[in-house]
Amino acid sequence: MNKAYLGIGTNMGNRFDNLSKACELLRDSDSIYEVKESKLYETKPWGYTEQADFLNMCVEIETEFEPYELLEYCQKIEEELHRKRIVHWGPRTIDVDILFFNDVVSTDERLLIPHPRIQDRAFVLIPLMDLNEELLINKKSIKEYLNLLSAKEIEEVKELVGYE
Ligand code: AMP
Repeated sequence: MNKAYLGIGTNMGNRFDNLSKACELLRDSDSIYEVKESKLYETKPWGYTEQADFLNMCVEIETEFEPYELLEYCQKIEEELHRKRIVHWGPRTIDVDILFFNDVVSTDERLLIPHPRIQDRAFVLIPLMDLNEELLINKKSIKEYLNLLSAKEIEEVKELVGYE
């Protein structure tokens, strides 16, 4: 059985709904068994800042999928939620990234693992800490990477309390 970590983000439409539908679709797969969810975090947008705040989370899954099969399934989830998006909401309802897949290292542009932007994004590192503090990138723990970020970057990732 493989263990993978996914990062999920959304900033359009009903963001809670988008995250819960993404998790539901993961659970729907016959090839995915456990889906452990991090807490949810509200995050200021990166790069292009003239857009709504994101909700971000990470999940840990047990899966029989191989890496490219999992990528395909994640893209299917994006498509599924995008379909609604095209009608109602414009260009970005959900983003599902593979962060880690066992100890696999992949340098193929189509599937970069570990995901190259984990270490400088508080909105990925913080929910990953909810799931597994032992994860390593280049032999460094995610906690160490988190310590390298500025207080401001960390402050901009706010845990959502009482969302259930
Ligand atoms: P984005 O929508 O910005 O997440 O980019 C999607 C593109 O990134 C797709 O073409 C994927 O094939 C590629 N990609 C590369 N590495 C990964 C990864 N670890 N997880 C998800 N997509 C990836």
